[in-house]
Order: sequence, then structure tokens, then C-alpha cells
Amino acid sequence: MVNILSIQYKSTRSNDTVTASEAILKGLANDGGLFVPTEIPTLNVSLAELSKMTYKETAYAVMKEFLTDFTEEELKNCIDKAYDSKFDTEEIAPLVKAEDAYYLELFHGSTIAFKDMALSILPHLLTTSAKKNNVKNDIVILTATSGDTGKAALAGFADVEGTKIIVFYPKGGVSPIQEKQMVTQKGDNTFVVGINGNFDQAQSGVKAMFGDKELAKELDAAGYQFSSANSINIGRLVPQVVYYVYAYGKLLANGEIEEGEKINVVVPTGNFGNILAAFYAKNMGLPIDKLICASNDNKVLYDFFTTGTYDKNREFILTTSPSMDILISSNLERLIYRIAGNDSEKNAELMRELKEDGKYTITDDMKAQLSDFYGNYASETETAQTIKTLYDNTGYIIDTHTAVASTVYKKYEEDTQDTNKVVIASTASPFKFTRSVMNSIDAKYDNMGDFELVDELSKIGNVKVPNAIEEIRDAKVLHDTVCEVEDMPKIVKGF
Ligand SMILES: *Cc1c(COP(=O)(O)O)cnc(C)c1O
Repeated sequence: MVNILSIQYKSTRSNDTVTASEAILKGLANDGGLFVPTEIPTLNVSLAELSKMTYKETAYAVMKEFLTDFTEEELKNCIDKAYDSKFDTEEIAPLVKAEDAYYLELFHGSTIAFKDMALSILPHLLTTSAKKNNVKNDIVILTATSGDTGKAALAGFADVEGTKIIVFYPKGGVSPIQEKQMVTQKGDNTFVVGINGNFDQAQSGVKAMFGDKELAKELDAAGYQFSSANSINIGRLVPQVVYYVYAYGKLLANGEIEEGEKINVVVPTGNFGNILAAFYAKNMGLPIDKLICASNDNKVLYDFFTTGTYDKNREFILTTSPSMDILISSNLERLIYRIAGNDSEKNAELMRELKEDGKYTITDDMKAQLSDFYGNYASETETAQTIKTLYDNTGYIIDTHTAVASTVYKKYEEDTQDTNKVVIASTASPFKFTRSVMNSIDAKYDNMGDFELVDELSKIGNVKVPNAIEEIRDAKVLHDTVCEVEDMPKIVKGF
């Protein structure tokens, strides 16, 4: 049954309204705003039922409420194709208890980081949306990456019929493991290009191609059109709501909480997508109390939650949790819109200030609506110390991003004496950031080679080396194109 009349998607900057599938196809609204559901739907299963559901069943129960113009068959088909043997556990997102927290491991997909949770289903949502809207062209995904997103998008779109994916990365600007993961990507429809420039130049080059009408015409004539896989697409946001709901069901099934007991959630945050998904889960009726937003030294969000001023005018700091090194958290706009009373004019005004002055301040009324959130941050030293202490006490090894969250959770407990049970989003496998993780545990590891360190981590942590790492040990390089920034469109036409 299709439920077209219920939820639609509207821009955060005007009253443009589209269906879910149109919002997925467009990514961004014409006015530059982000699509938000006209209301947050209620979860239509009881907590008792939830505790008996598999990941896929939970995914359907959550996503059907948001993607109202997808049929049951269409949506279940997308879910089946996404959450299959690409994940190394049938649980998809297992919960691990260590000390007094529950780590929700979101890194069991093909690139061992949490972006797989959404990027393994987005290609299917996108091709289904194209069919539903009679789009005849093949979809060409263009992405600029500073490391993680590129590989997750490549893995998600590889060999998906009706799509091609082209990823640009700054040659010399990503880690050796990240580069190797990308240039060894299989799939006839995948293209990986290094550019002689930095990430910002790669990103600007991609943005320019999205806005290039001539190029769009040429592509259309050849049967192609561009689309984007970036984290503001609601096709990435909605699948992320699922694992919070699933985690609650698991806690209940395992007898760790009482039915209806409120839990806290801690999320290591960059672009604000993952924590916004937790906020949506709460608003669907899931018993979540506090949403704890953890930042690294790039603590724009901590400052925002404490002062009400968002200010990106500051030094950009490179940390050992690079996926959180972000000064503009794009998805925050969806929260701003909401606390402005769903007022697109007010939101658009604040976003204009952000663009022009690099900062904005919210009103006291808006600030009062942020009481669900708590923000704090972890320094580099604290992050490393957390990895070591947790390992020494329990033998469990977490990655640097997760360690930022774990540190902030401890600060929260000290600040508030809150005794709610807590779920910490564990966003990457420690094998993805092996060197920083191992150096935190013992400085003696500093002079070991990359793969030696991988084996040592496996040994001391008593965990199998993930396939994603085994695969690249001896994998052949399949992509060796390198180009100048100004030649990016030429390269795209060539493909
Ligand atoms: C992307 C990423 C984050 C940040 O998630 P947002 O949704 O951008 O806030 C945190 N940790 C890891 C490992 C990531 O890849």
C-alpha cells in the first residue's frame, strides 16, 4: 500500500514540496536548502515487538514511515539488496558491552566505517526512485572525497545496474590505506581519479560540474544525468534512524533495560548526520533521553550548544579522528529549521549569515528547544587515553572517533550524575585507524609497518582482521588516472 498523502519532503529554505523519491533523486532543493519530512512519523510497532525483530525487519518498520511513496515490495527489495553478505555479521549492527556502556558497532559493512550503513542502501533507493519517476537516463554519481565517503560510495554503487560512479580524491591528501582501498575498487561502473590539488579543490571542481548546464545537456544526449551521494541526501539520513531503533530492541531483548526505560545516545559528530538520525528516532517515539554530541578539537558544535552561536571562523585542526574534522556541519541546518518553528525564512536568513559572515546566533527561544542535546569535546590526549584505559580494563579496542564519543560520555556522567544506560555509536573499526589506535595503547608500536600493525592489533585485541583490510594487502591497482583540477570535466566526459 502506498501512503502518498502522509509525509512529503519540503526544503528548509522555502515551501517547495516533493515526494520522498523526488527528494532522493534531487539530493538538494533548488533553493540550496535541505529536504526535511513535513512531520516526523511515529514508529508503528510496540517496543515488545521491536525486541523480536531482525535488522531488516526493523529497517522496513522505520523506513516505510518516511519513504511514503515507495511500495512495500520496492522498499523490501532495497533492504534485501543492502543488508546482505556485504556485512560480516547477520546482526548488521551488533551491540558490545564494555565497562558500563553499550557500543553500537556500525562498522561491519564493506569499508568498515559507519557510512556503509546508509551507502549500501542509497544506490538501490536511488535507482528505484529513478524508475518511479520515469527517469530513463543512467545515473552518474560524482563525489569528491577526503577518504572515507569515497570508498563507501564506490563499494555501494559498484556493479549497481543503471549507475556509474566517479570519485575524485586529492592525490597525496588521503591516508595510504584509504588510497589503496579506492584504487583497488572492482566494478565496471567505477572510476577513481586522483587530482593534483587539495580536497577543497576537488570539491569545488565537483560542485562546478553539478552547476554546468552545458555539461548536463551533453550528458543527457548521451543518456546520463548527475546525482550525488553526499550526506545531506535524505536517502542517507533515513537509513541511519534504523540502527538506533534496532539497538533499543536489542537492549530490551537482552534484558539490559525495562520496556520504556529511557536511554542516552552518544554520537561522535562531524556533519551532524548521524546524531540527527538519533534525534529523529527519539521523535518517532523511541525512549531516548539525552542526545550527546561529541566533537574533537574542531569543537564548533560544542561552542554552539553552550553559547547559541555557530562560528566557523577559526583554525582548522587536523586530528586523529579525521572524519570529524569539519567546521561546517551541513545537517545542523535541519535542526535549526526545526527549532525555528519550521520557519524556512528564519532558517534561510541564518544560513545566509553563515555564508556571508561565517557565523550566526540563534534566539533564546530556539536555544530553549535544544534541551535534548548535550555537547562536549575530547582533546587528542584524552582520546588516546580513553583507548588505552578501555583496552587495559576490558581488552576491547575502539577506534579514535569512537574514543572521542567515549571520552565525552565520561565528561557527561561527571557533569550530570545521570545514570541512564548509554549507547555509544561506534563509527569505525579500529583497523581503519590502526596507527593512531596502536600508538595510543603503546608508543613502542610507532616503528612497525602498516600491515604489521594490523596483525598486531588482531593479536592483542583478539579480533579477526576484517575482509576490507585483507583484500587490499595484495590487491591490484585498477585505477591510476591522475589529472589537473581544470581537466575534471574532460575526464568525466571521457568515462
Ligand atoms: C563520517 C564519520 C563521522 C561523523 O558522522 P556525521 O554524520 O558526519 O556527524 C564519525 N565517525 C566516522 C568514522 C565517520 O566516518
